[in-house]
Amino acid sequence: MAESVELPGRLAILPFRNKVLLPGAFIRIRCTSQSSVKLVEQELWQREEKGLIGILPVQDAAETTSMDSMLSQGVGSESGERSSNVQVSTSDAHKVDGKNPSEVIHWHNRGVAARALHLSRGVEKPSGRVTYIVVLEGLCRFNIEELNTRGPYCTAKISPLEMTKSEMEQVEQDPDFVTLSRQFKAIAMELISILEQKTGGRIKVLLETLPFHKLADIFVASFEISFEEQLCMLDSVDPKVRLSKATELVDRHLQSIRVAEKITQKVEGQLSKSQKEYLLRQQMRAIKEELGDNDDDEDDLASLERKMQNAGMPSNIWKHGQRELRRLKKMQPQQPGYNSSRVYLDLLADLPWQKASEEQELDLKAAKDHLDCDHYGLVKIKQRIIEHLAVRKLKPDARGPVLCFVGPPGVGKTSLASSIAAALGRKFIRISLGGVKDEADIRGHRRTYIGSMPGRLIDGLKRVGVCNPVMLLDEIDKTGSDVRGDPASALLEVLDPEQNKSFNDHYLNVPFDLSKVIFVATANRMQPIPPPLLDRMEVIELPGYTAEEKLRIAMQHLIPRVLDQHGLSSAFLQIPEDMVKLVIQRYTREAGVRNLERNLAALARAAAVRVAEREQAVSVSKDVHKITSPLLDNRLAEGAEMEMEVIPMGVNNHEISNAFRIASPLVVDEAMLEKILGPPRFDDQEAADRVATPGVSVGLVWTAFGGEVQFVEATSVVGNGELHLTGQLGDVIKESAQIALTWVRARVEDLKLAAAEETDLLQGKDIHIHFPAGAVPKDGPSAGVTLVTALVSLFSQKNVRADTAMTGEMTLRGLVLPVGGVKDKVLAAHRYGIKRVILPERNLKDLVEVPADVLSSLEILVAKRMEDVLEHAFDGGCPWRQHQHSKL
Ligand code: ADP
Repeated sequence: MAESVELPGRLAILPFRNKVLLPGAFIRIRCTSQSSVKLVEQELWQREEKGLIGILPVQDAAETTSMDSMLSQGVGSESGERSSNVQVSTSDAHKVDGKNPSEVIHWHNRGVAARALHLSRGVEKPSGRVTYIVVLEGLCRFNIEELNTRGPYCTAKISPLEMTKSEMEQVEQDPDFVTLSRQFKAIAMELISILEQKTGGRIKVLLETLPFHKLADIFVASFEISFEEQLCMLDSVDPKVRLSKATELVDRHLQSIRVAEKITQKVEGQLSKSQKEYLLRQQMRAIKEELGDNDDDEDDLASLERKMQNAGMPSNIWKHGQRELRRLKKMQPQQPGYNSSRVYLDLLADLPWQKASEEQELDLKAAKDHLDCDHYGLVKIKQRIIEHLAVRKLKPDARGPVLCFVGPPGVGKTSLASSIAAALGRKFIRISLGGVKDEADIRGHRRTYIGSMPGRLIDGLKRVGVCNPVMLLDEIDKTGSDVRGDPASALLEVLDPEQNKSFNDHYLNVPFDLSKVIFVATANRMQPIPPPLLDRMEVIELPGYTAEEKLRIAMQHLIPRVLDQHGLSSAFLQIPEDMVKLVIQRYTREAGVRNLERNLAALARAAAVRVAEREQAVSVSKDVHKITSPLLDNRLAEGAEMEMEVIPMGVNNHEISNAFRIASPLVVDEAMLEKILGPPRFDDQEAADRVATPGVSVGLVWTAFGGEVQFVEATSVVGNGELHLTGQLGDVIKESAQIALTWVRARVEDLKLAAAEETDLLQGKDIHIHFPAGAVPKDGPSAGVTLVTALVSLFSQKNVRADTAMTGEMTLRGLVLPVGGVKDKVLAAHRYGIKRVILPERNLKDLVEVPADVLSSLEILVAKRMEDVLEHAFDGGCPWRQHQHSKL
């Protein structure tokens, strides 16, 4: 836009009907009337340099009356200026754009000089009339001094209205002007920022580059305001008046934009939401109809709400649930989050907030009978359980410690816990903690995670459906901790009666009362259980069973149960005691009875096959009288007894068993054992065979599976005096081997292990010690005495006694220290058919726990020093004595 324009004294005037061109604005006019075409032709088209023309607002007579008053008010009052209209009577009225000349036209006395930016000429067909399209830019205001309407187009004598530069500078100093400018700027900024949000334009730049009085025109020119207001703006020659007028208009525009926005938002929101919902519902209905699936979601949610109402939640949790339900109701089933919300509410509704198994009056005698009936032996353990129950009976809310059964697999830990539940008349639920490393497994994942779930405890309670079950925390020693947290610390909260009243599962996110649950834990070993957790539990140890006990358990409990599980009875299958003994000795060598049960089940399965085969054969025999073929005759001849009875089809097991009662039952014998269970896996010869060469000794170790027999093999090869150890050994056992070797080397002479001139045993030799079952990791100090015995046997070339096993830690000076797990180790020795056991003297006290019949079948030898062990381990005493004897 031109900064200052020099106006000529006369200007050609183009009337602008009912519109105003303001300085700074652009318009595009199509000139079709004779006069305007002439004006454009002469003033713009034919001139080389595009000249200026004046744009003068004109108004139809009909609109003047009301406007006159407005004009005089709008401008006159504020600026004190007088604006007057030039009224042209009909006689000399100029035809404005071909309008009816009879109309009285009001010419405004102020206009705006404009410059043509673009011109284009056209010829109308078929009339051949010339028309022009002109793009004009408003430059500055002028005043009409004298209007000449005669001639082909109007001209006027004019005087400029814009202030000179110095005048303007003076105005800019005026505090009123400064305030007004500031106001205008603020409001203009606001408008611009709204517009820019919509248009993304760069209108703000204008604010920085143009003077405010010009900006005022530009802003107002872009608004859709009435003709009167446009005129009023044109008449605001004084910059202050112009600014205040523009501020008012911009503000009004801003308000109207805001209101419009609000309304459209509201209307749009309402419309689109309801329309969308309606559309989706219609679609859903159509899909359901198509699928023939008419159950309504609303019914579904109503039933969920009913279920929640009946769940007996505490009031605060009910409120929480209702909130969630309200949210769910507002959602569409296809919406993300609907399903997870639904599953969550289902859990809330399913959890046994109050539902409990009815507590029976505890009858201790009945409970004892129950335990006795389910389990053989375990007298002390049953007694301890009864004591626990008695305390509960007297003081139901007593916060006694949690029972924890510790022992090898298959000794009846789980079944004892389920017997407790049965004795109390409560439901039983087993939560397996083996391998749980993530705290979230106990406490659940927060619902923000995708695929989040409640922890195992809450899930277990949902499954069991009552809030007072007996909950078995199985294999509590197998939890581990890693980066995902420590499950043991979560368990601490569970087992603490003070805290478990409001157990907080992350998924559930509301407290759940676990105080009515009776917890029982099981573990194979005590040592991996974190001490704080162990502190909350009362450990009851279950050692392994002796062969005799196993036999009794098998005869009284396992065989009847196994037969029943396979749909058999003793009428079909009989397993004599001798055979069970053989199974125990030759096929299972475990502390518990799990493998024994498995083997008995294998026998039962084989018997079941035979029975099923007979059943088939019988159905063939039904048709005997109808079909006679030599083939069939043969078959019947083989199983002649089957001809005797015809069994109708569709009979049940019981009837079959009755039918076959006449037929002799299957009695398991040794041949059958081998056929079904395969060749014996263990025999008592094993130890004898393995220690048949010097350098091998028999140790007793303790593992998660109870006590075990562990052979130690030592051998020497040509080398540089190094010790090699193999068999997945831990640091402690490696050190024991070092100690053992050092001790033996230090006593070469005492033990007469080498010729007199040979003082170093390892000269030119390497020693290799191996612990067989190389794949199983081993550690602990209790192999000390076994290692020394193997080495002495190697160097003395004397065999260790095959019937003797030993255990004990040894110090560097040869003292034998006590070790743990003696009871299990002695039982293991007994299982392996070992006859003599060498134990540290200070372990003698542990023998009271070993069943008497085991003890009576073993010779227990005590050792205080290593020499005692060697004395017992070799035939005829320690090898050095024999050397002495031979010398004598
Ligand atoms: P654990 O939990 O100690 O590994 P289980 O409780 O699962 O062992 O016992 C394994 C099987 O042995 C079960 O069928 C159980 O009934 C049976 N069992 C174990 N000990 C006895 C016992 N003393 N009397 C009767 N059955 C027993």
